[in-house]
Amino acid sequence: MNYLLQRRQILAQTLKAREVDGFLVTRPANVTYLTGFTGEDSYYYGTGKNSVLISDTRFEEQIKEECPGLDAHVRGHTKTTPEAAAEVLTRSGAKAVAVEDSGITVGELERFRALCPKVTFVPVGGAVEAQRAVKDPGEIERIREAVRVAERAFRMFVATIRESDTEKDMVDAIEGYVRRAGGRGSAFPPVVAVGERGALPHAPPTARPLGDGSKVLVDWGADLGYKSDMTRTLRSPFGTAPTRRNKYERVGFDFEEVYEVVLAAQTAALATIRAGVKAKDVDAAARKVLATTKLKTHPSGEKDKLGDYFTHGLGHGIGLEVHEAPRVRANSEDTLEAGMVITVEPGVYIPGWGGVRIEDDVLVTHSGCTLLTTLPRELGTLGG
Ligand code: ZN
Ligand code: ZN
Repeated sequence: MNYLLQRRQILAQTLKAREVDGFLVTRPANVTYLTGFTGEDSYYYGTGKNSVLISDTRFEEQIKEECPGLDAHVRGHTKTTPEAAAEVLTRSGAKAVAVEDSGITVGELERFRALCPKVTFVPVGGAVEAQRAVKDPGEIERIREAVRVAERAFRMFVATIRESDTEKDMVDAIEGYVRRAGGRGSAFPPVVAVGERGALPHAPPTARPLGDGSKVLVDWGADLGYKSDMTRTLRSPFGTAPTRRNKYERVGFDFEEVYEVVLAAQTAALATIRAGVKAKDVDAAARKVLATTKLKTHPSGEKDKLGDYFTHGLGHGIGLEVHEAPRVRANSEDTLEAGMVITVEPGVYIPGWGGVRIEDDVLVTHSGCTLLTTLPRELGTLGG
C-alpha cells in the first residue's frame, strides 16, 4: 500500500468540495505528510491529477531518496520558493488555489497574489491537519517505533542515573539515550523535575540534584519523524520528604495515595475512549475521578480532593508533531475516530509538594483503545 499516494488522493477529494483547481501546501509537517520529504523550505502542489514537490537544488538527492516517483520542481538559488511555486501554478493554468491558514502569513499571501495575479487564493483552514488526525497503518507503525525507542531510552536512563545527577544532567542523559536507542533526537525538550519542582508542568531543568527530592517526574519522547510523548513519575530512593536534607517538599501529601488517584483517573479515561466518543467526555472522565476521590491523608489546610490541582487538558493528538489534532480537553469540539493516536496524561501539581503525571500514547479503535506504550503505569522506584 502506497500510503503517501493515498493521502494525496484523499486530499484531492477536498478540492472539488472547495471548488478549487489545486492545493498549495506550505506547512512543513503537512508537506512531509503528503510527500515523505523531510527537508525544509519546500511546498507541495496537488491538483488531483498531478502532484509536485517545489524545492531547491540543495535537496535534489534527498528528494530522489525520500520521494521516489514524485514530480519535483527544483529551483536554483536565484529564485525563492514562492517564485518557484508561482511558476508551477502559472504553468498549470489554475484559476483558484487552496492555501493553508496556518501555513502562510498575510505577507506571503500578498506576495503570491502579486506573483500570480490571475489566480484566486482560497484559505481553507486546516484541511491537511484534519486529515492527519486519523492515522493510516503506516503512520501507526512509525509512532509505535517512536514509542519503542523512547521506552528503551527510559530503561537505560533509570538504570544509570545517580543521586548526584542534576535535572540538567538527567535531561542530557535521556536525550543521549533516545539517540542511542535509535531516535533522531528528542520529540521535545524533556522535562526532568525533582521533588517539588514537579509542580511546574513544564519545569525547565535546573542544577537541583536527584538526591534533593523524594520523587522525580520525567516527560520525554523520541523523534523518528513521527513522535512519542510519555511521562512517568517515580519514587526516588534517595530523598525522603520531609527531612533536613529535603527542605524543599514542604507540603506532606502522601505520594503513593496521590499517585493511585492519578492512575485511577487515567484508567477511567482510557476506559472511556472509543471511536464516536467526544474528546471532552474523555477529559471529563479523568477530571471526575480527581474531583471526587477523597484522600485519606492530606495535610491540614490543603484540599482533600485533587480536582483543583489538574490544571491542563487531558491530552492531545500526536504524530508528525508532538501536539496536533484532536484536542482532548474540556472545551474540545472534536470527536474521536478510529485511527486517531492521542496522549492521555492526567496530572496534579501541588505547590510546595510536587507533581504526579502519568502519560501514555493510545490508538483509538472502534471498540476502545490500544495502549502503544508498554512501560508499567503502576508506581515504580528509580533503580528498581
Ligand atoms: Zn509529555
Ligand atoms: Zn503530552
